[in-house]
Amino acid sequence: MSALTKELRVIPGAAWIVAWFTYLCLTLPVFFLVAPTDREVGKWPRWGQALLVYGVFLLVVALVALIGYIYGDAKRRQMRYVMWTLLAIFIPNAIGIILYFILRDPLPKPCPGCGHVEKAKFPFCPRCGTLLHATCPKCDKPVEPSWANCAYCGQQLLPEPAAGAAQNPSVAT
Ligand SMILES: [Zn+2]
Ligand SMILES: [Zn+2]
Repeated sequence: MSALTKELRVIPGAAWIVAWFTYLCLTLPVFFLVAPTDREVGKWPRWGQALLVYGVFLLVVALVALIGYIYGDAKRRQMRYVMWTLLAIFIPNAIGIILYFILRDPLPKPCPGCGHVEKAKFPFCPRCGTLLHATCPKCDKPVEPSWANCAYCGQQLLPEPAAGAAQNPSVAT
C-alpha cells in the first residue's frame, strides 16, 4: 500500500482540485437537470440515476488524476513534462497516455552522498563527488553491476553485491 500512496503523491494538488471541480460541475447539472428528463434514465429510481451519474463521472476524475500523475512523474524523471502532459491530453484514445508509460525514462537515483538527483549516468556526483556508478578499473568507463566483463575494454570485473555497487572500492580504483 505504501508504494501506491507514494505514487499518488506524485499527482499535484492542482490536478485533484481540477478533477473534483470538474466532477461537481458535471454531476450536479446532469443529475438534477438531464437525468430526470432523459427518456430512458428518467424512468429509473432516483438512487439508480445517482449511481449511474456519480459513478460514470468518477472516470473523469480518474482520467484527470492520471494526467496529473504523468505531469508529476515526467517532472520527477526529468523528462519534458509539459510536452508529455499535452500529449496525454490531446492524443485521442489515450494513446498519448499509453505512449508515456512505454517510453518514460527510468527514475533517476538520488546521490547517496548529498541526495542530489542527477539524470545522466555520470560516474560521479557533480555536486559532492560521490561515486555513483562503479567504473572499470582499466578504462574508467561506468560499468553496470551485472556485468562480468567491461563492455568497453573487456576487462574482467569482480562480482559485487548489487546494493553496495556505488561505494565498492574494488571496482572503483
Ligand atoms: Zn552527491
Ligand atoms: Zn573497461
